[in-house]
Parts: sequence; structure tokens; C-alpha cells
Amino acid sequence: MVKYKEKLEEQKVFIDGEWTTSSKGDTYSIINPSTGKTFVECQKCDVEDTKRAIDVARDAFDNGPWPEMSLEERTKIFYKVADMMAKKSWQLSKLDAMCNGIPALSHLIMVLSSVPLYKYICTQAKKVLEPKKVSTLYPVDSTVLRDPDGVTALIAPWNGPIWIESAKLAPALIVGNTAVLKPASQTPLTALEIAKIFEKAGLPKGVLNVITGPGSVVGAEMAKSEKVDHVSLTGETITGKEIVKNAIGNLKKVSLELGGKSANIIFDDFPIEDAVNMAAVGGYFLNGELCIENTRILMQERIHKKVAKKFAELSKSLRLGNALSLNTNIGPLVTEGQMERNLKYIESGKEEGATLLCGGYRPQEGELKDGFFVAPTVFDNVSNDMKIAREEIFGPVLSVIPFSTEEEAIEIANDTTYGLGGAVMTKDRKRGMRVAKKMRTGSVFVNTVHILQGETPFGGYKQSGWGREMSELSVEEFTQPKSITADWGGFTKYFVELVQLH
Ligand code: NAD
Repeated sequence: MVKYKEKLEEQKVFIDGEWTTSSKGDTYSIINPSTGKTFVECQKCDVEDTKRAIDVARDAFDNGPWPEMSLEERTKIFYKVADMMAKKSWQLSKLDAMCNGIPALSHLIMVLSSVPLYKYICTQAKKVLEPKKVSTLYPVDSTVLRDPDGVTALIAPWNGPIWIESAKLAPALIVGNTAVLKPASQTPLTALEIAKIFEKAGLPKGVLNVITGPGSVVGAEMAKSEKVDHVSLTGETITGKEIVKNAIGNLKKVSLELGGKSANIIFDDFPIEDAVNMAAVGGYFLNGELCIENTRILMQERIHKKVAKKFAELSKSLRLGNALSLNTNIGPLVTEGQMERNLKYIESGKEEGATLLCGGYRPQEGELKDGFFVAPTVFDNVSNDMKIAREEIFGPVLSVIPFSTEEEAIEIANDTTYGLGGAVMTKDRKRGMRVAKKMRTGSVFVNTVHILQGETPFGGYKQSGWGREMSELSVEEFTQPKSITADWGGFTKYFVELVQLH
């Protein structure tokens, strides 16, 4: 039995530089999906708590030192944050694993990818915040500056807490915004740890506030509040639509990183063993709960049967277990509800006539029976109009779709309401790039999958979102361009004369 700590002490929230409880003293429990047992109580904030956190962030933006501080001063704090996060990386990884069932080693990859992001974003901010002179039609001096948006509301999902929260916090704060961060109800612990790290690094009080509680209450208020200037969500497409509706009151800026149903196109010139491994990493990373997961695996006719068979064999050999165990390939799904949802999709795949190659059940052996596990499941001969090929399942339930030509593969890959990720496996460089360019998605990997890096923009086409995270675009996303045009040479007098003529 793997143990971290059976029970953690009750968590508080971070508002105005203070660690506090929800105003009504309400809490909620978090269940460890590996064991099915409650292990920590968290604050269940309500609308009143949310308003308070927003007021604090508003005041810190309007009156605080943070927006006025130099980028160099803010950078110093960010470097301290990165170093402290690196030191705590394993502890943070275990906390997230206990909350969401994703193996701790996978969390470690995400934490260690987040650490350099805090430093990298400082160099991008320098580029973006640098005033830019523009050459103009008229003989005037025009400069374009970038101002922070103001108060940002950052709403995160449960599947990659630190990575996704860092992708929002780093660009939002470095340019001088203030923030209210709401982690997913299932995974609040590391967001609270991030607040402790920023606090220790010397972030002025009120600049970052972290509150926990239900999305339908806390998140909805963050989206509605007229004191918020920019709301940024990573979550389901349906939640994104809800946020857009709620944000309409003050027309605040909305950034959305939403769901996906990405295709991995495997051509028949790609080595069989590599194809099987790419299908597995591309489909099962984070228990199959990654937004850019390659859940539709397109295999070219000539190699289809062979790759599908070997892929099913590999899937059967994956080790299921406690998310804290270093031996675990696939942990439990985040909640009982998520497990039930996966099992329902499995039934739907069977009903619609897909061929079940492996999995398709909830494992019951030993300790597995206590957790929310679903055996790695591969359906073959899936057609792209089946529910399992169209809807985001978020779990280890994958679809193999055979194809014959390059054109057909591209058509299938693009025939989805989503447009987040995708992959192409081929030894033919020209074809790799040609197909990647034709895929209507925000990112495509060729002969690889899921490289988490801060340097390349990340986001979706179609119903996968609005805006981009990572890279300098993420810094731009949290700023407003402002142009200042000055006439130092007397050119305006001609305008005056022109007006007087009329
Ligand atoms: P979710 O939409 O249920 O929740 C995301 C966040 O929104 C949570 O903090 C939740 O509490 C909050 N929320 C829920 N209802 C809300 C409302 N009405 N108003 C405001 N906030 C609300 O998503 P999830 O289940 O936590 O995460 C999984 C989803 O996230 C998947 O669809 C996945 O594809 C997506 N995702 C996308 C990316 C990306 O970068 N595109 C990355 C990771 C996850």
C-alpha cells in the first residue's frame, strides 16, 4: 500500500495576503480517487467570498504597487518563485496525484515544465512591454505600448493543475495584472501551495488571491463580476460557453482553453513498434485525461490490423495502480462520476458496433476495487460519426479508425467540432509537414506527441477555444495595446487650417 499521508490538515484560502476560512465556515471534502477515501477538507467559498477576493484584487490593481513596479523587480520575484517551485516539485506532484489520480511521475513532468516557464515568461514580457515606435503616414510620433488588463479571474481544470495554473499566472502577473485564481474543486491543494510560494517570494499582498469552491458559484461570479477585466478559463467547452454568457455584462475580455478530440494519423511508412508506442503515449498520458490527447487513432489500411493488435496487447500490459506508486502507468479517474461517464461511453461504443479489442470494464482486483479505475480500452473499426469518436470522453478509452489515403485521413481528422491538437506519424518529411498544415488545430506534433513547452503558442480552433497560452502571445493576451500619437513638429496646424476652410 502506498502512503503519503492518510489525512491532511484543513486547507484555508488566500485573500488579501491572509490565510482565512470561507465566510460561512463551510468546507467540502476531497476524495483520493486511488483509495476512494476522503483525505482533506477545503474551504467552500460562496459568492460573498468571491466578491471579497475580487475587491481585494481590484484595490491591489488600482492602488497597489504591483502595476507600477518595474519589470526587473517583478522578474526578481518570479525567479524566486521558479526556484522554490523546483525545490518542492516532488511534493507538489504527490499532492496533485492524490487529488486527481494521475500518476505522480506525470505530474512531476508538468511541474518541471512549469518551473522554467516562470523565468522564460520574464524575457517574453520584456519584448512585449518594450514601447514600439511605428512609422506613420503623417509626420507625427506614434508609439505602441502594452498596458496590463487589470483584474484577472483565472479558472483552472483538475487535469494538469500546476502546469495550467502557471500558464495563466505567469503571463498575467508578470505584466502587472492582479489575480483571483480558482483551481478546480477536485484539485485545490497545489494552487494553495503556489500562493504560499508567491507569498514567500515577496509578492505584495492582494496581488494574488486563491479561493476554492464550486465552479457554478465561485467561477460563475468571477465571470459575472463587473470589477473583473479579463476572465481566463481552461475547462470543458460547455463551461466556456457559460462563461461567455456570464461575461457579457461588462464585456470583459474572455480567454478560453477548451476541450478536444484530437487525431493521430499513422501512415504505413512508420515503423510498427514506434506507431504502437506513439499511440499509447498519445492516448494514455495523464490517464487519457489530457486536453490534446490523441483519442482518435487513424491507422493506414496496410498496417492497421497489425498496429491495432499490438496496441491492444500493449494496452493490456499497462499497470494500473495508486497514483502515488512509481510503478503505475495508469491511475484511477478523477471522480466516481468521471469513471461512470467513461463506462457509459464504452457501452455506447459497443452499441454502435465498434470492435472492442481490450478493456471495457472497471477492474476489481485487490486495491483497485476501492478506486475509480477503468481498464485501458481500445475500440477498433470505429467510424468517425460514432459518439465515442465525436465526444470528449476524458479517460483511457480510445478509438482506432482505419483510412486509406492521405486526403481521407485529413478529412476524418478535421471532421470534428474541436480543433485543439493532433499528430502525424510518417518518415516522409514533406508529407508530415503537408498534413500538419492541413489539420485545423492549434498544435500538431509530427513523429512525437504532447511535448509540454512554454515557447510555442497553445490553444484551439473552432470549439476548442479563444486565444493562446504560452509563448509571447500569452503575454500579449493579458495586455491591452495602447497607441500614443504626439505631434512635436506642428503638423496639426494643417488640420486646423483644413477645418477652418470649411
Ligand atoms: P470544467 O469545465 O468542468 O471545469 C473547469 C473549471 O471551471 C473548474 O475550476 C470549475 O470549477 C470551473 N467551472 C465549472 N462551471 C463553471 C461555471 N459555470 N462558471 C465558471 N467556472 C466554472 O472542466 P474540468 O472537468 O475541470 O477539466 C476537463 C476539461 O478541461 C476537458 O474538457 C479538457 O479538454 C479541458 N482542458 C483543456 C485544456 C486546454 O488547454 N485546451 C487543458 C486542460 C483541460
